[in-house]
Amino acid sequence: MTEAIATDRTEPAAAPAEEAIRVEDLHKSFGHLEVLKGVNMSAKKGDVVAIIGGSGSGKSTMLRCINFLETPTSGRIVIGGEEIAMRADGSPASRKQIERVRSRLGMVFQAFNLWTHRTLIENVTEVPVHVLGVPKAEAHDRAMALLERVGLADKAATYPAFLSGGQQQRAAIARALAIDPSVMLFDEPTSALDPELVGEVLTVIRDLAAEGRTMLLVTHEMKFAREVSDHVIYLFEGRIEEQGPPEAVFGAPKSERLKQFLKSVA
Ligand code: ADP
Ligand code: MG
Repeated sequence: MTEAIATDRTEPAAAPAEEAIRVEDLHKSFGHLEVLKGVNMSAKKGDVVAIIGGSGSGKSTMLRCINFLETPTSGRIVIGGEEIAMRADGSPASRKQIERVRSRLGMVFQAFNLWTHRTLIENVTEVPVHVLGVPKAEAHDRAMALLERVGLADKAATYPAFLSGGQQQRAAIARALAIDPSVMLFDEPTSALDPELVGEVLTVIRDLAAEGRTMLLVTHEMKFAREVSDHVIYLFEGRIEEQGPPEAVFGAPKSERLKQFLKSVA
């Protein structure tokens, strides 16, 4: 008798998690240099996917292709169920579409990339107000809440140059969150930081992961990747050499290359 165990739950218990992002057979060449050689990956809503690999393996290029900062040579990119239409040369077929899709992606780079002539609050409100048309007061309140979340509410009126690297990177995360992205892309967010500043940035990212923010995270922090990710992708020379849950990839790597890599970064 199913009635006997009926609850007031309104959603089906086994509803498949929604796909947040899918990349199919992604290729990217720079001239004769083939950097991505057919990458396939996907993430469901709420997934944290860590991308690891040696320098030059194509990690940044992969993230940059996903938001078309680089033009893919070929492949398919689907964000939130919407496939980005590409021309034969890989460029986005529609400016409008790419802008719409980009507004669902928050990107945080290695170097903090804040606008140096704007205060933190101006950095965080810029895109919502001037690109997305959010009313100023609303954008301001939201930005303050985001700065509060990353522990920088008291620095709202400060210019980036007066902040530490860790503070700047936390502000960059607040700025990326200001568009309420469906997927956050992090490209080695801590690798330009002095060691003592890494922790405060990882704490912010850990909180985002814990609250179910979907993210692709390129990182050299293996302990952190193991702790926060649901899935790990190991890139080697533009191909996924091995992937799986963190316990498997870090705890029981199969590929010799991955074993070597993990040794080299330990
Ligand atoms: P990773 O982030 O894993 O260190 P990248 O994606 O930055 O690797 O780079 C992969 C390869 O592509 C490297 O050999 C790099 O020199 C090359 N590359 C990256 N961007 C460009 C570019 N704009 N023009 C030419 N070569 C590039
Ligand atoms: Mg890189």
